[in-house]
Formats: sequence, structure tokens, C-alpha cells
Amino acid sequence: MNHNDDRPGETGHGPGSTQGENGRIDNPPKQNLNRGPNAILDVIRQGEKFLVCSHSRPDGDAVGSILATGMLLAQMGKRADLVTADRIPTMYRALPGADEIRTAMRVHGPYDAVILLECDGPERTRLRGLEAFFTINIDHHATGREFGDLNWIDRHAASVGEMVYRLVKTAGATVTPEMATCLYTTVLTDTGGFCYGATRASTFALAKELTEAGADPVRIAQDIYFSTATSKLLLLGAALSNLRREGRLAWLWVTHQDMVRTCAAEEDCEGIVNYAICISGVEAAVFLRELPERRVRLSLRSKGRVNVSKIAAELGGGGHENASGVTLEGPISRALDEILAELRPELELLALGGRNAEEPEDAFAWENREAGTGLEISDE
Ligand code: 5GP
Ligand code: MN
Repeated sequence: MNHNDDRPGETGHGPGSTQGENGRIDNPPKQNLNRGPNAILDVIRQGEKFLVCSHSRPDGDAVGSILATGMLLAQMGKRADLVTADRIPTMYRALPGADEIRTAMRVHGPYDAVILLECDGPERTRLRGLEAFFTINIDHHATGREFGDLNWIDRHAASVGEMVYRLVKTAGATVTPEMATCLYTTVLTDTGGFCYGATRASTFALAKELTEAGADPVRIAQDIYFSTATSKLLLLGAALSNLRREGRLAWLWVTHQDMVRTCAAEEDCEGIVNYAICISGVEAAVFLRELPERRVRLSLRSKGRVNVSKIAAELGGGGHENASGVTLEGPISRALDEILAELRPELELLALGGRNAEEPEDAFAWENREAGTGLEISDE
């Protein structure tokens, strides 16, 4: 169900608004309402050239949504630059048109509007120069905010790609096999292979429609799940040797030295946290990665009973209820103390009541392991 206010015709280009330098629409009427696809299409129809971008360290939803939006704009006879601050991870480079996404730190116009996908704030792009342009914000994060000149936030969407699909259908555009491939990738990756909370019957209906439109689920799954770099497995080995368990909580980490030793790229960290959340009886998990400058990136995951987006947001990050992230000051031990101090009370609350209040099955043996096994955390 789409509860967005999407009255056709009510766009930022009302009487009195003028187009200024760089294509920016001067003094756009405040668009803080959550709007929908029709309002966005009205703006697109009136413009000629657009910038499409997403968050830094782009994931499958970011890359697939950017590409599909670029394809929609092309079908509508518009020009578009596709830009991210970080390069596209290897696993997504086989996506149709992926080589058209440029990497930049600053953007320059002229653009009629910037379409920001999957960002709960413009700073998530790590791109400079965006503030010069009329901003269309399309997002599905629990921590999504109406920061744009025009906003469409659907927290129930399985991926932003699902929203782009609705945009395409509303526009009456054709879902080409290339577009379907990009959009299927957004759904597959953002639902963790149809596992996470946002997976509903409509998610499978969408997957069916995209498959019928030409997405090849087997090939896409192979590109994503069976094309792992050796460096990623070596890094995973390092992370698993740092796996810790405390009742319903589990965490693991890699140091910058681990990254260097295994020749790992940033993208090799994606998914490592799943090895902690997948443990039977664990309700919340954390993966910590030491950055070169000693700050620490955290990936938080939950099986659904702990809202990790709330915890991430309190510490300056954000994300979804089941999957969120934040960057904290190092060293790892300090960042770990900080996150555990937030998570432990949440898990204690779970233990006090509610469903499955009994201790998780294998926690007892783990917590009573012999001391001196070398499993204590250190800063080294
Ligand atoms: P990941 O752990 O895979 O890096 O991120 C999980 C989810 O949290 C993604 O939806 C991502 O967009 C969001 N996320 C990760 N890090 C941050 C952050 O620093 N700030 C915000 N606002 N969201 C984040
Ligand atoms: Mn997403």
C-alpha cells in the first residue's frame, strides 16, 4: 500500500518558481511532504538533464537502482549522469550499463534535478556540490528523512529498486531485460536472498514480474553468490577467528592489518556480519572493521526483535530495523564497548519477557568455555 501524497501536477515547479544557474529551481515551494511517483515524473518530464546518484560504498540496491533510473530517463528522452563517490564493487560490474557509472568526489551541473537514491541524507553520498541543485529523494530506510526538495520515502519497499520499478510502471515505460536485471538485483541483495523482514508476498510478485521481463535469476544469483574473490574468503577467515558470543549477541571484527594481509578491498567486508547473525539463538550481531585512520565501521544486524536502526541512529549512523551501520571512533575495543553498551540492555529486555525468553540453546556451552583460550579482545 502506498500512503504517499501523490497528487499529480503538484510539483516544485509551481507559479513563482524560476530556473536559476546550473538548472537549479530557485525558491522551490517546500516539498517536505512524502510524495510519490507521479510528482517525481512531473519534475522529470519538465527537465532535460539529471544527475542520478546514491550512497558511498554502493551496494546492490544502490547500483541497480541508479542503472534502472538511468535507463528510465533515457526512455523518457532525458540525459543523465550516473555518479557515485566510490567505485562499483566487482560483483555488480557485470550489470548492464555498470561502466557508465562514473566515480567522482564533486558534481558539476548543469542539471535540472539530482535524483538521490537510497540515501537518508545527502551526506551519505559523500559527493560535494549537490546543494546547488533541486533534489529528488527516493529512499526506503527506516531512518529515511524528507531532506529533499521532493521526497518519496517508502519504508516498506524491499529495495529502492522496487520503488524505481513503480516509477517505471507509472511512467508507462518498458521494463527491458536490462532494466529487469538491475531491478531484480536490488531486490535479491537488499532482502538478503529473500530472507530479511521486508520480504513479503509482493516481493515475490515483483521478482516474478522482473523474471518475466527478462531478468535471469540463476545468472544473477551466480554473479552475486558464486563469484567470490579469494581475498574475501581470506578476510572472512580472519573475521571468524575473531568471533565472540555473549548470549543473544555475537560479534566479530577485522583490523586494518587483516585487510592489508589478505589484500582485501572494502567490498570484501560485505556480508561478513551474516556469519554472526546466522548463529542459532543470536538476535543481534555486529561486524567491526578498523579503518586505516583508526576509526571503526560497524555493520549491525538483527533477526527482527531488536531495532538496530534506532541504535545506529543514536550513534550517528542509520539504516533499517534489521540492518544498519555507523562509524565510531577507534580503537576497535572502544567502538565495541560503545556498541555493546547500547545492545546489551536491548537484549536484556528481550530476556525479561516476550517470545523465546528462555536462554538460547548453545549459548551455555560457549559462555562456559575454558578461560585462557586466547579469545579475549585486544587492541593489537
Ligand atoms: P551495511 O552494514 O551493509 O554497510 O549497511 C546496512 C544498512 O545500513 C544499509 O541500508 C546502509 O545504507 C545503512 N547504513 C550503513 N552505514 C550507515 C551510516 O553510516 N549512516 C546511515 N545513515 N546509514 C548507514
Ligand atoms: Mn536499499
